[in-house]
Amino acid sequence: MKDIAVMYHYVKTNDWKGIVSLEPEIFEQQIDILNKSYEIVSPDDLRKPRGLKPRCVLTFDDGTKDQYTIAFQIMKNKGVPGYFTVMSSPLLDEVVPIFHLVHIVLSFHSDEEIWGDLRGRYDVDEVPQLSGIYSYEKDIYRRYNKYAFNFFLTKDQARDYLQEKAIKVFGTSKNLIDQYYVSKNEFMEMKSQGMTIGVHCAHHTPYCGDANIFYKDEIEPCGLFLKNELNITPEWYTPAFGGGEQYKAMFRDLEPILREHGYKAGFATTPGKNNGLSNFWLNRYDCIHVPPFKSIEN
Ligand SMILES: [Zn+2]
Repeated sequence: MKDIAVMYHYVKTNDWKGIVSLEPEIFEQQIDILNKSYEIVSPDDLRKPRGLKPRCVLTFDDGTKDQYTIAFQIMKNKGVPGYFTVMSSPLLDEVVPIFHLVHIVLSFHSDEEIWGDLRGRYDVDEVPQLSGIYSYEKDIYRRYNKYAFNFFLTKDQARDYLQEKAIKVFGTSKNLIDQYYVSKNEFMEMKSQGMTIGVHCAHHTPYCGDANIFYKDEIEPCGLFLKNELNITPEWYTPAFGGGEQYKAMFRDLEPILREHGYKAGFATTPGKNNGLSNFWLNRYDCIHVPPFKSIEN
């Protein structure tokens, strides 16, 4: 068990206060460090016998624009491959998942302003005393807002408010999608430059407990997008939220369905090493915690 996979989300200068991102320079340093001990490969290379070095797959979730404008350009310059995934619902239906709407709204508006909006629109008087789980947040309004969006408001209430607010940042819904996500043509370019493109999800929901329904709702539509729009046979899968709370049931029940549809592996969020494709579900280290990067932090 020697190979590893590293999980990346945003790779961009940290000028958005609503997200956690990896600085581009740190990303470059990580590639250099990984290159010393590992062979950075495409997922498909994991099917081949291992060479002298253990292998490392760089994996990217959520398909945000920075992955094309920053991560992909760095990787192209350094000549290393990677594995990028598509979330199809923003590209097909202009529907942005709630967690991305939260990232946008918290990055472009003050928490005090958002809390003021919420108080004007909904009965959120109970939120301050309920919001203790976010006491690690220094900004008291950030604490209230996070609790309100994640636990207190209904999904529809949160979406109504966040969508309107997020679209205003970009002018139109189409602009938001164009500026926030890797486009179809950009994915095509990445593919032509040797990057592997896989399935992340349709709407970014955690595993629902029924593998057939989950496949139909979250995986098949994205797989069809890959086939029809990008001319790619989907073979690699990365579950949203690593599957979520029911990930163990997902590992068990979804694997046969995915194998039946031609998928070769799923990239999970459980940390740990891998041995080629001996397991269907591959462990991944978050780029913030992966062991070889300790030397950067120290
Ligand atoms: Zn995701």
